[in-house]
Amino acid sequence: ERVIGGEVSEFDERFEQSLRPQFLSQYIGQHKVKHNLEIFIEAAKMREESLDHVLLYGPPGLGKTTLAAVIANEMGVNVKMTSGPAIERPGDLAAIVSSLEPGDVLFIDEIHRLNRSIEEVLYPAMEDFSLDIVVGKGPTARSVRLDLPPFTLIGATTRAGALSAPLRDRFGVHSRLDYYDTEALTEIVVRSSKLFEADIDPNAAVEIARRSRGTPRIANRLLKRVRDYAQVRGTGSITMDMASQALEMLQVDPLGLDHIDHKLLTGMIQRFRGGPVGLDTIAASIGEESTTIEDVYEPYLLQIGFIQRTPRGRVVTASAYEHFGMEIPE
Ligand code: ADP
Repeated sequence: ERVIGGEVSEFDERFEQSLRPQFLSQYIGQHKVKHNLEIFIEAAKMREESLDHVLLYGPPGLGKTTLAAVIANEMGVNVKMTSGPAIERPGDLAAIVSSLEPGDVLFIDEIHRLNRSIEEVLYPAMEDFSLDIVVGKGPTARSVRLDLPPFTLIGATTRAGALSAPLRDRFGVHSRLDYYDTEALTEIVVRSSKLFEADIDPNAAVEIARRSRGTPRIANRLLKRVRDYAQVRGTGSITMDMASQALEMLQVDPLGLDHIDHKLLTGMIQRFRGGPVGLDTIAASIGEESTTIEDVYEPYLLQIGFIQRTPRGRVVTASAYEHFGMEIPE
């Protein structure tokens, strides 16, 4: 079972739910995004209007879903959550939007995976709060316009580039979530420990934060594993010693890279002389989907400067060779 992987099981889902901040004041880091949203939220409340549609983008686990729920809480409205692939027919979307109360938030995760035919239905819903639906079949079919209550669509995507331009343009607010620094992640680890009622050494919190690839979801997962370890092997208290041992056992290196990252990078070095090598070739060589590599692994490796994208494919950088103690070929 991967600690770093992007997929979230049902069990994870409940665990994450218990750690989710409810309000902006509890939402750690992302200062610029938070600051902007604070102003937009306050202005919308003063005008007694629904908040503009918000597009959140950034790698998985950075807090997009959490932020959507926080926004709804701050606005004092309900949130309905769904995802691009879950909306199969225009009727599915119609059913959801027509059940909203005035001002409510509709959260669509993975909005870049929305069907084009559903996007078309979404445009007038976003722009004029109305739905054009076709009733009847064949020659008697006709289009009926339904009015909707004003609502806020919050879309989340790991890749803003995959969104069609007309859809992207219909969002008034675009917020990019960035990887968190160690300080913010430490704060998240300490906060979660408190919620777990676990005792943690501040240095152990920093160590977990450092190895979390800038990602709150990973920080919380690592914390949970370390806590289990401390419970079984120690007294339950998360000391620096317990944290180091547990992290070693989990095979997460000091930069937060795990065995898949190692396999990916050393594979590129040994089999392809460090590249350039195409994404699909990399994917095939380690038995992962190309999209998983592009959305989950690669963004962090790009961020820490271990790989570069070139027109001819991905290239391993000198820093990565150094990290693995490998020699750079001529
Ligand atoms: P995404 O939707 O971007 O994949 P989530 O919103 O599901 O990410 O966040 C994953 C987990 O990380 C959540 O359980 C939440 O507790 C935690 N988390 C995310 N962002 C923050 C934050 N800014 N402060 C505290 N915890 C956070």
